[in-house]
Amino acid sequence: MVKINKDLFSLNNEYSFYNIANIVKDYKKNNKDKKVISLGVGDVSRPIVKSVIEEMHGAVDDLSNMDTFKGYGASNGYDFLKSIILEKEYDNKFGLDEIYISNGTKSDVTNILELFDIDSKILITDISYPIYKDGSSCLNRKVYYADTDDNFKPTIPKEKYDIIYICSPNNPTGLNYTHEELKSWVDYAKKNNSIILYDNVYTAFIETDTPKSIYEIEGSRSVAIEFRSFSKTASFTGVRCSYYIIPNEIYDGVNDLWKKRTINRFNGADYIAQKGAYATYKEKAQKDIKENIKYYKENAKLLINAFKKYNFEVTGGIDSPYLWVKINNDMNSFEFFKFYLEKLNIVIVPGIIFGKKADKYFRASALASREVIEEGIERMKNYYEKNI
Ligand code: PLP
Repeated sequence: MVKINKDLFSLNNEYSFYNIANIVKDYKKNNKDKKVISLGVGDVSRPIVKSVIEEMHGAVDDLSNMDTFKGYGASNGYDFLKSIILEKEYDNKFGLDEIYISNGTKSDVTNILELFDIDSKILITDISYPIYKDGSSCLNRKVYYADTDDNFKPTIPKEKYDIIYICSPNNPTGLNYTHEELKSWVDYAKKNNSIILYDNVYTAFIETDTPKSIYEIEGSRSVAIEFRSFSKTASFTGVRCSYYIIPNEIYDGVNDLWKKRTINRFNGADYIAQKGAYATYKEKAQKDIKENIKYYKENAKLLINAFKKYNFEVTGGIDSPYLWVKINNDMNSFEFFKFYLEKLNIVIVPGIIFGKKADKYFRASALASREVIEEGIERMKNYYEKNI
């Protein structure tokens, strides 16, 4: 019999988003009279802004006309999109050959592992976005866990690791890394010839005086690959468009190698998505997108105040749409998830999904609509004011 990749059997276990979704689905099915709302989900609720939609309509029309029809595009993306990203996000400090357009950071952060030897030692934080572990498993790679500080940020290891995943602003803790923290990782990577995979999909939410890109750190161009996405910034979770930078300084010739790999493995992000992504940089779109981010940030403030009012310790929610909330009773995070689901009909994400050390925490998200946020706060008020 053909041997199956045994690591796949560990996916979607008891503590996974998949299982949580099934529990919620069953609960709804068996309790049709209850209106379940989610204060945990990582999807956006604001629609794509109008000017971007118009550009995408135009792109659909292009496909209907012999003169403007587009078939397969470049595997690495159209130059019109690459150029505007480089100008607006990176001050033209990288060239067109250093940026790759793709169809989502979730796949990008795993696919990139194909660049490295299968025995490379991969370091992740104990509490992290699950795809770093699960994606590595899908590709038969072994992960190691870094020790963490009080903010659940990884501490610099004594041993040598080849690949280091850093997520900043962080999902789930909602914290952005400081300049000093990133500098120590860049120094570590330079000393150990490691590569940092920097997942930066929430950069648009950063408001504190912390780095918006790892390339703000001196020396990072030779050790870091940065990933970003239009998903949370421009409500593209359903459209799919992302990008990443592989600086030429990383290793001699690595970019050429990755281009060859990409040409062989990927036929490019779709034209309509790339036209839409391009349009997000137009003046009116930027203004409307900033309004959306502001809306989520106001949601976050409302949630932070509500959780604090009911004696929860909260971090995050400032440089990111996520709030990381410490459970204020003796339940573990899965028990607390079920308790919130059954008593308040609110879905939160139990910390255990993100790592073993997170079992006294849960993730809440400000990405829901204002109505849902207000309804959630009202339910908390009704519950806690009756039960405290
Ligand atoms: N990276 C992080 C840290 C995320 O939280 C998410 C989505 O929740 C993604 C990547 C996925 O991004 P995309 O929609 O571009 O695949």
